[in-house]
Amino acid sequence: MMKFKVLGANGGSEKNKGLTSFLIDDAILIDAGNVVSTLTIEEQQSIEHIIVSHSHLDHIKDIPLLIDNFIEIPDKKVNVYSLEETIDSLKHNFFNNIIFPDFAMIPIHDPILHYNCIKERERFNLNSISILPIKVNHTVPNLAFIIEKGGVGCVFISDTYKTDEIFDQINLNKNIKFVIIECSFPDQSQKLAEVSKHLTPSIMLEQIEKIKDNSIQIYIYHLKPKYSSQIKEEIRALKTSKKIEFLEDGMVINI
Ligand SMILES: [Zn+2]
Ligand SMILES: [Zn+2]
Repeated sequence: MMKFKVLGANGGSEKNKGLTSFLIDDAILIDAGNVVSTLTIEEQQSIEHIIVSHSHLDHIKDIPLLIDNFIEIPDKKVNVYSLEETIDSLKHNFFNNIIFPDFAMIPIHDPILHYNCIKERERFNLNSISILPIKVNHTVPNLAFIIEKGGVGCVFISDTYKTDEIFDQINLNKNIKFVIIECSFPDQSQKLAEVSKHLTPSIMLEQIEKIKDNSIQIYIYHLKPKYSSQIKEEIRALKTSKKIEFLEDGMVINI
């Protein structure tokens, strides 16, 4: 069984709306937009691995603050996994001893932070969980993840515009129980969605219709708070036989 906890599911920030972050089995973090204000220090200490989809701030913002809470915990280590481009931007733009200390190299104790480059289409395993990264279509290199454990699986598509490969992979996999896909803007903002490589309800529908199995639950995430009621209305009006729900902060999905 896999426990999937939603720490944050929004594409923008306002009161009581957290940015993208999910916690699997209390130990594996997928993106880090809303971690330190949603978990106690004890809960934070259970985190061993952070998997990062892409370098945008709303997906990485809490990594430094989380690691800062691990200082002087004996033997505490955190592994960060992402594409080489994303790891490079974390090193150069975040943990650069200007914005924040370089936790991969603090002279007085062993490094807390360990970087791990992953590649698209190369499966890797953490604890008993297997993760297959697939590139999606965003303004910076960005990964979707197919996450499986003991014969069940789920998919996090992260920020994207029109994309295909991840849906081919979903159709090849019989374990998938749910798919998380973004919808950042309402249909009227189609031009903005296209240049910022995000989805609107109509284009999101085109994407999920590529999934052949209608029993797979679709969860929508990354709504921009300013448009969230309009986006929800537009999605509820879509004609589709897909099972669609909105992902909300605090939800726990057990599969
Ligand atoms: Zn993004
Ligand atoms: Zn985002």
